[in-house]
Amino acid sequence: MSYAVKELFYTLQGEGGNTGRAAVFCRFTGCNLWTGRPEDRLRAVCQFCDTDFVGTDGPGGGRFATAQELAHAAWKVFVAGSTPGADLAARIRGPGGQQAAKEAQDPAERLDLPERLQSTGGSASLRPLVVCTGGEPLLQLDAPLVAAFHAAGFLVAIETNGTLALPQGPEPRGGIDWVCVSPKAGAPLLLTAGDELKLIYPQPGAEPERYVHLPFANFFLQPMDGPARAENTALAVRYCLLHPQWRLSLQTHKLLGIP
Ligand code: SF4
Repeated sequence: MSYAVKELFYTLQGEGGNTGRAAVFCRFTGCNLWTGRPEDRLRAVCQFCDTDFVGTDGPGGGRFATAQELAHAAWKVFVAGSTPGADLAARIRGPGGQQAAKEAQDPAERLDLPERLQSTGGSASLRPLVVCTGGEPLLQLDAPLVAAFHAAGFLVAIETNGTLALPQGPEPRGGIDWVCVSPKAGAPLLLTAGDELKLIYPQPGAEPERYVHLPFANFFLQPMDGPARAENTALAVRYCLLHPQWRLSLQTHKLLGIP
């Protein structure tokens, strides 16, 4: 299977349970709840999306013929971003960033697999993280790609709308190490367990009470972005104070101005 990726970049996770952790983001092209075209938004199941997941033209994006090819590209992005002296903003996103990023990724070519694993240590907290997002990553993420990411040394996280099944494979959850589900009102929820349920708030038809009984390890409430962000943040703060099993998630990458 080939993979269509909008962008592949290294940054800090801005939201939810892994906030502040460095990660390669693999943003897959496409979503099953909106086409991504503005003219379709009012007819879409999900109407508040803040992400461009159309095409393959973002930094590091493209079509990858094999799982190994995509995992290798993700590893090169990780090495480029975590190499001392790497200036992410200038090298990956700035003018001429594609060429600069290509040059910055070259050190990866010198690392074979044992060196990669040794360089990142054995424990889960030290292994590099790849966050599979979108769009809806489960339209494309399959067991061979999870295995290829693992072989490259990554822990694999996913951020999904929860309407599609996890990859099938010999390991539970298709081998995915961290499952974050973000339910959307009007979309049937298929994934009802995981490491993190991250609910955009408020969403009429997707009230927190609908989900809090589900077997997730963590429950996050994240204020809906947009013109009413300040009001939504106040509402989320109030809800978390009144319902302490919920924790506030802020989009810290937006506050920091990083990808
Ligand atoms: S489900 Fe996620 S990616 Fe898809 S349209 Fe909604 S917010 Fe965007």
